[in-house]
Amino acid sequence: MGTSQRVLASHALDTLLTALREDGYRCVGPQPRDGAIVFDTLGQAADLPWGWQDEQAPGHYRLQHADPSRAFAWANGPQAIKPLTFAPRETLWESRIGADGHLQFAATLPAGEKVAVIGARACDLAALHLQDQHFLQGAHADAYYAARRRNLFIVAVHCTAPAATCFCASTGDGPLCTAGFDLALHETDAGYLVAAGSEAGTSVLASLSLPEASGTQVAQAEAAVAAAGERQTRTLPSRNLRDLLFANLDHPQWDDVAARCLSCGNCTSVCPTCFCHAEHDVPLLDGDQGRHYREWDSCFTEGHSYLAGIVIRSDTRLRYRQWLTHKLGGWHDQYGRSGCTGCGRCITWCPVGIDLTEEVARIHATGGDHD
Ligand code: SF4
Ligand code: SF4
Repeated sequence: MGTSQRVLASHALDTLLTALREDGYRCVGPQPRDGAIVFDTLGQAADLPWGWQDEQAPGHYRLQHADPSRAFAWANGPQAIKPLTFAPRETLWESRIGADGHLQFAATLPAGEKVAVIGARACDLAALHLQDQHFLQGAHADAYYAARRRNLFIVAVHCTAPAATCFCASTGDGPLCTAGFDLALHETDAGYLVAAGSEAGTSVLASLSLPEASGTQVAQAEAAVAAAGERQTRTLPSRNLRDLLFANLDHPQWDDVAARCLSCGNCTSVCPTCFCHAEHDVPLLDGDQGRHYREWDSCFTEGHSYLAGIVIRSDTRLRYRQWLTHKLGGWHDQYGRSGCTGCGRCITWCPVGIDLTEEVARIHATGGDHD
């Protein structure tokens, strides 16, 4: 693929969007809406969040005016790119009573639309890799996820503006995008430095006929991303907290956090790696048809641990403990790494400002040496 970087002038971003559309992609990109950065269909580069930055803290998110020459001077919004592959709600199959009186079933696979997402961050790429492991590995790949995933083209943007809640440097997932993209952009004073990370990306980049970036431009861009990582203040004490957490299932910190946690599930909704879901059947009113659908669920709901007439995790202490021990512990057994990519969303969008880095730090400080 090569690592050469090309220079795309800031005012020429639309040429990239046009090239993607000519390849059949619907472009999806970040836009300021209702006080947050959200991903939606992107009509033109002018719709990007030019001149906006995000102020984030536990339980706090505000957009503020910033340098109008920058479209990516923000860290992230409540959505990652997860909804583009793992739909928040979708019908898996439909059933109907046929003319012969027997039930007939028909799968409702996604149409396979080609989507190019602009502005994915390094933490989101790491999360997408984890979701790929969950949905695509093994003998029974999820056909619904696979249909969207194979048609996804990713234009990543290296992060130079981490929020106060970010800790991707601590988890080893950012802020530099190192894999999992088709194109990756550095936003600089000289415009965008663009590199390809796949054959599809190489093809699109070649079609733009851009001049090569100088060594100085590349060095300055990479230094800005490295500096962004050094500005992050939150950390986890280790990238593998499995033994610490499982050795402390009765730690008093679980009671402490349960007294604050609302069991609202916001943290799981915004987390780019959470994959829990529920499935339901809905009969249509004509009595002859039904739909079986899947929707995101949360380990913080009572119904999520309902088994054979019993709610296994009946209180908030057990639910928060389940979430954190699975995310930072059990994932090592399932996927060979932590399920946290340091995006900080669960901290920002928690209505009472619960910060998993602080919860872990308290258990780490008093839970014995298990690193
Ligand atoms: S656990 Fe929190 S910080 Fe980690 S990936 Fe999920 S939302 Fe981001
Ligand atoms: S930790 Fe915060 S966001 Fe998560 S369920 Fe509890 S109150 Fe809601």
